[in-house]
Amino acid sequence: MAEQTGLKNRGHAVSDMEDRRSAAEEFTGVALTEIAKGGMEPETAAKNVENMIGTIQVPLGYAGPINMAGGEAEGSFLVPLATTEGALIASISRGMSVMNDGGGVRAQVFGDAMTRAPVFRVDDIGHCMRVMDWVDSHRDDIDGAVAGTTSHGRLVRIEMFPDGRSLFMRLSFSTGDAMGMNMATIASEAVCRLIERETGAVMVSVSGNMCSDKKPAAINMIEGRGKTVLAEARIPKDVVEKRLHTTSAAIVEINYRKNLVGSSLAGTLGANAHAANMVAAIYIATGQDPAQVVGGSMTMTTCEDVDGDLYICVRMPAVEVGTVGGGTRLPCQREALSMIGCLGEGKARKLAEIVAATVLAGELSTLAAQAAGQLGSAHAKLGR
Ligand code: NAP
Repeated sequence: MAEQTGLKNRGHAVSDMEDRRSAAEEFTGVALTEIAKGGMEPETAAKNVENMIGTIQVPLGYAGPINMAGGEAEGSFLVPLATTEGALIASISRGMSVMNDGGGVRAQVFGDAMTRAPVFRVDDIGHCMRVMDWVDSHRDDIDGAVAGTTSHGRLVRIEMFPDGRSLFMRLSFSTGDAMGMNMATIASEAVCRLIERETGAVMVSVSGNMCSDKKPAAINMIEGRGKTVLAEARIPKDVVEKRLHTTSAAIVEINYRKNLVGSSLAGTLGANAHAANMVAAIYIATGQDPAQVVGGSMTMTTCEDVDGDLYICVRMPAVEVGTVGGGTRLPCQREALSMIGCLGEGKARKLAEIVAATVLAGELSTLAAQAAGQLGSAHAKLGR
């Protein structure tokens, strides 16, 4: 299996692909029949697309295995990734293999809530304060409105932001194993209708952009959106030197000057090498909403030299994923989720931890390649 996942594994003949798929089936215990077949029947996608004329194919590969000790993700995983960027999966696999040599990855979900933030029009400051008071003192009624729309969603927090004659309410929901955007939107509409009836405030939009969905936003960096996840690894000095042909100090310096100083000079939200690459590939493979790669792109990558060993961590404030609903209903995406034991109920946090571990592997490999001066040559060899 190690050979199947390594950098040398570049065969593109049909028989190579079939052999590799058989090895993945053996490793995961999942029959990948839909993935082998490709395409999909129109009725399968009825809830996911309008005016359907066919499917666009994106090549699917795997990285790993990655050994994990997570809050939920425990064991060894082959991670399905859909991408058109040559060298990406080879690089992530290298990062995973190096982290395995150092004892694997630890990951943990620290926050879990999906947000919707309606905006209301109010008459003036006095009216605004009356609306806010009503919301503060009628939480049971508001919870009742939510319960009328969903059995898995629950309102966990309401934050209010007045500005002129606009009143924003950022509503945070626990959404079970769904990513939760439809669920939170439907529940928020019910809450808004109740507030309109009781207070005279007028809902102008159920989504007033303080949510903030599919836009990079400081509020999500700070408060989190979807799952807030950390993944970390400690790689012994000799493994860094032997496997990555560099030193912990060199990787720490690259991370400092590039990811921390460079990113803050450029004004990016998040400070990482290419987190969006890993997030996009795993989201497309597993039926997540690809537009929410924006949230994943706000990753912070930190590195420290600890007695010559490399400590590396990613903090991902907005991993907006689900294992039920949305695109997770589609046949190939279901198989991809099954490869990592993440299909269905009770699996959403596990998926978020695997996303973070995969991002960590990609960050490690790319930083190390730059420290060793290999980034251009790796792309020239594998990606062109
Ligand atoms: P959904 O498929 O619309 O809803 C999830 C469904 O799964 C609900 O009917 C829920 O039932 C049910 N469910 C069954 N078991 C569950 C469990 N264990 N945990 C949670 N729910 C469970 O999915 P969604 O996650 O809310 O929304 C995702 C979709 O929204 C994606 O297709 C995405 O592209 C799209 N999206 C929508 C918006 C928007 O503004 N509406 C924005 C961005 C993305 P109950 O609710 O009855 O409990």
